[in-house]
Amino acid sequence: MNHRKHKQAENQKRKKMYTPEGYIKDPPDEVCPFCGKKEKPCSYVNSLSRAWARQACKQKVDNKKNI
Ligand SMILES: [Zn+2]
Repeated sequence: MNHRKHKQAENQKRKKMYTPEGYIKDPPDEVCPFCGKKEKPCSYVNSLSRAWARQACKQKVDNKKNI
């Protein structure tokens, strides 16, 4: 049964169709819950690197609150 595998490959291809920045095609209403910005690496987590960006943003905002 190779059919299922083929479909997965197609999906992966589709996922790669984003811009070099990778984030300007985010859902339009997606904002970062920490800094409230959209179209930033932290606005929408769809990859590991963006999960890191979200984490970094959280820490940045937390640090500001503590001052
Ligand atoms: Zn943010």
